[in-house]
Amino acid sequence: MTGQSAGRHVAVVGGGLAGLAAAAALGSAGYKVTLFEARPFLGGRATSYPLNSADSTGPTIDNCQHVLLRCCTNLLDFYRRLHAEHRIHFSREFYWIEPGGRLSLMRAGMLPRPLHFTGSFTKLHFLSVRAKVDVARGLLAVRRDYHRRDDLDQISMFDWLREKRQGAEAIERFWRQVLVSAINEDLERMAAVHGLQVFWLGFLARGDSYQMGIPSVPLAQLYSADAWREYPLVELRPRCPAQEIEIAGGEVTSLKLQGGLFTADAYVSALPFEKLAALAPQAKVKTDIFTHSPITGIHLWFDRPITRLPHATLLDRTIQWMFNKEGGRHIQLVVSASRKLVEMPRQEIIDLALRELTDFFPDVASARLERAHVVKEIRATFSAAPGLEHQRPVSVTAIPNLFLAGDWTRSGWPATMEGAVRSGYLAAEAVTAHFGEPKRFLLPDVA
Ligand SMILES: Cc1cc2nc3c(=O)[nH]c(=O)nc-3n(C[C@H](O)[C@H](O)[C@H](O)COP(=O)(O)OP(=O)(O)OC[C@H]3O[C@@H](n4cnc5c(N)ncnc54)[C@H](O)[C@@H]3O)c2cc1C
Repeated sequence: MTGQSAGRHVAVVGGGLAGLAAAAALGSAGYKVTLFEARPFLGGRATSYPLNSADSTGPTIDNCQHVLLRCCTNLLDFYRRLHAEHRIHFSREFYWIEPGGRLSLMRAGMLPRPLHFTGSFTKLHFLSVRAKVDVARGLLAVRRDYHRRDDLDQISMFDWLREKRQGAEAIERFWRQVLVSAINEDLERMAAVHGLQVFWLGFLARGDSYQMGIPSVPLAQLYSADAWREYPLVELRPRCPAQEIEIAGGEVTSLKLQGGLFTADAYVSALPFEKLAALAPQAKVKTDIFTHSPITGIHLWFDRPITRLPHATLLDRTIQWMFNKEGGRHIQLVVSASRKLVEMPRQEIIDLALRELTDFFPDVASARLERAHVVKEIRATFSAAPGLEHQRPVSVTAIPNLFLAGDWTRSGWPATMEGAVRSGYLAAEAVTAHFGEPKRFLLPDVA
């Protein structure tokens, strides 16, 4: 325990990655932390739960497949703090499949960065020579523009690609395929700054930063109670929703809970923006600038394996990603920015998924579907629209003892697990500065 932090008590509201990261950082710096989470499990939007709560022997599923890249330095740091990093399995290969089943593979080769993909890139089947030239020119433009231009928040990624004279094939089969899943937004609705950031940090800044990490256990196990044993100052209270963040005389006076009031020296809201607006309207945080973008996850269980691939991105169809969860029998499909599926009935989505999957994996036609489950996350992330970035609120608020975390705050990243952890570390830094002993928790990006 250090200096003034000893005895200081911080209440964190929200047990998603932002709140957990803030709690871990403050707990490691000697602050007493009490974290309130409304649901019975931790992890917020990045969590898992039993498919059927009445059947404890049935499958546990992630609310949706979550992946990270090696450039997620703060998320990996957070997993390290909880001794969970060995549960992330990194893949060096990206598989792209065309309807009909033709496979292309992208991985780093022997050449130094930024030429590390040259070998596999030239061999990609799904892009014509012309489209490859477009993409190569586009990537050079990313290198030039990312640190140089200050208008990238104002224009859409689609406009930037048109400005760089990218043809339809390069846009549809390469840029759109990567970025809609990475940012959870259509190219036309996504600020260019986020698209360039993905390619700069994930593909160009370091030779291994593109490697895709997939948790080898259900997400909630990454933050299990065991993992917190090394944080005796952190108390986690699941099933404990805050009803109001009470503000009087220009400061937070208490949290209103079901059983009464809870007071602390400082308060971190790690709530989604719409919840913060409801629980603390007097804080006057500008949340009406945000809108949501949905993600749909589709779980299919077959009576036999339908593929041996661990994962793949599926071209030219509604379904964008396939993840092999259990020897090719349990398949998880993901559709990002899935506005078209929001109103579609569950059975129609399953039929669509089966039809499309058969285009890539012919064995689906002869396999029997044993079970299917659709998860529509209508409020999956905020829409990373042009003009929004500089308006995202920072962790310090007009209320001196109230701090903000959450993937929607100005973390320097779009709405991702890395963005959420960064926001938690930034809020924790702001708390320590408030008490006069500033600490650094945020790790720098890979470049
Ligand atoms: C379907 C889907 C797929 C995704 N895929 C990826 C991916 O592959 N890679 C990636 O990096 N990111 C992905 N994301 C984004 C990522 O999950 C989020 O950006 C991140 O988890 C947000 O964390 P957070 O802590 O900011 O918010 P949340 O996870 O929403 O946490 C907020 C918490 O506050 C709690 N809460 C709400 N009200 C109260 C209350 N009154 N009192 C107490 N607690 C309350 C909620 O229960 C929740 O636990 C995906 C998101 C979704 C939905």
